[in-house]
Amino acid sequence: MSRAASSSPFAAARFLLSCAQTGQLPADRLPEVVLAGRSNAGKSSALNALCNQHGLARVSKTPGRTQLINLFDLGNARLADLPGYGYAAVARDLRNGWGRLIAAYLDQRENLRGVVVIMDIRHPLTPLDLQMLDWARHRGLPCHVLLAKADKLGYGAAKRTLLDVTAALRPYPLTTVQVFSAHEGTGLNEARQRIYALLHEPPATAPPPETLS
Ligand code: GDP
Repeated sequence: MSRAASSSPFAAARFLLSCAQTGQLPADRLPEVVLAGRSNAGKSSALNALCNQHGLARVSKTPGRTQLINLFDLGNARLADLPGYGYAAVARDLRNGWGRLIAAYLDQRENLRGVVVIMDIRHPLTPLDLQMLDWARHRGLPCHVLLAKADKLGYGAAKRTLLDVTAALRPYPLTTVQVFSAHEGTGLNEARQRIYALLHEPPATAPPPETLS
């Protein structure tokens, strides 16, 4: 186990529970950060790498749990793993079963402090990713984007994508972005620090969208 992981709360992460209804969520005030991303973007691998535990995210892939919100206990905080969004429009998904659960969690969960959006660095900023960022901005929640599988690109191409995505995210003032590779460990500590800050530091405030007269 690396020094950074062993000295961080992520190393102690444990699966807590799977929620099918928001009523099953813990009724306390512990801060939560949610992990979201398109199916196959590398979300499970990112969770395992962040927590330095190879099997941790397996629960999120267990049949019967893939459409639930899976919570992971970090001691005095939690990570919430959302089902990977598919190729159908989020708006349509939100109208039916599991989508309603996610919408209720995202809209109403007061414990929520921030959103980590995992994107495949080769296919960033899909319409569904943008919907997630729009929703977070609407709620005033900070976001952190992991451009995952960075090892799939050369250094120069990864850097260019980082710059392009950073520029594209200018309309999202509470959003930060980094490159990440679960396989090679690239950006692991940066991601841990950012998620820790989302969980435990007072939120930055975005400039008001417009001045009311
Ligand atoms: P999820 O569906 O978003 O949870 O994605 P997974 O974590 O299951 O990853 C989907 C696929 O991408 C799997 O084949 C992983 O091995 C692969 N993958 C995930 N992270 C990385 C990475 O950092 N580098 C590379 N090269 N492949 C990765």
